[in-house]
Amino acid sequence: MQITVNSPEQMQELGRRLAKLLRAGDLVMLNGELGAGKTTLTRGLGEGLGVRGAVTSPTFVIARVHPSLGGGPPLVHVDAYRLGGGLDEMEDLDLDVSLSDSVIVVEWGEGKVEELTDDRLLVVIHRAVGDTTDEVRHVTLTGFGERWATADLSVLSA
Ligand code: ADP
Ligand code: MG
Repeated sequence: MQITVNSPEQMQELGRRLAKLLRAGDLVMLNGELGAGKTTLTRGLGEGLGVRGAVTSPTFVIARVHPSLGGGPPLVHVDAYRLGGGLDEMEDLDLDVSLSDSVIVVEWGEGKVEELTDDRLLVVIHRAVGDTTDEVRHVTLTGFGERWATADLSVLSA
């Protein structure tokens, strides 16, 4: 599934839509270079999930927990860039929430957090080649595992 996004606002809207597909225990991995829009997408996700607290770059804290305001799953937002050891370190973070009860969004977690679950949604964001506005992004979504085998991602591009 590939979606073209033309502005930060549209990226946030994509996050809000994606939130509707997510439930407790889901792992979303966000890849893409610095400034691609991973945190912007997560901000929309947080809005869609109805969580407390502004979603900002977690770069200096590794992980931030945003509790739900409406009884849904909390959002655990991880920047794996500083998560050297992967899963073991995740568990050592003492996040105060159970990961299986949360929606987990990991920026730059490739090769580090796959073992959290067989099921994951990989979101890769690329800047569009030759885009002089630097606002166009191509977003590729790929679901892995049983959880995503039957998910209808086409609702995201509506
Ligand atoms: P990352 O987390 O991938 O490093 P951020 O979401 O923190 O990226 O920052 C993306 C930056 O790019 C923001 O300043 C945002 O305003 C800008 N931007 C421009 N166009 C887009 C777009 N289509 N989607 C997301 N961000 C965009
Ligand atoms: Mg970021």
